[in-house]
Amino acid sequence: MHEKSKVTRRVFCRNAATITGVAMAAGVIPIREALAQQKLSKADMKYQDTPKDGQQCDACVYWQPPKACGLVAGDIAPSGWCAAFNKKK
Ligand code: SF4
Repeated sequence: MHEKSKVTRRVFCRNAATITGVAMAAGVIPIREALAQQKLSKADMKYQDTPKDGQQCDACVYWQPPKACGLVAGDIAPSGWCAAFNKKK
């Protein structure tokens, strides 16, 4: 019984990944939208459009000019800030 449930879970996960891939390839789920959904929300990251303590987005490793971020979804201001700020080296 236990071994059977492992196989069932494995098969379920494989099928779920396949269905997602097929849906993306078929355009049912636009790739850009699927990737955007993987980003964090501004609210969750306490994003603000102004710098904080001298830190701002265009000095962060996640900054993607002209107005995006690799971690946080949506338009991001170069002078913005969020809790994930990580200064470029
Ligand atoms: S501070 Fe936050 S929102 Fe701004 S670039 Fe860095 S991770 Fe993105």
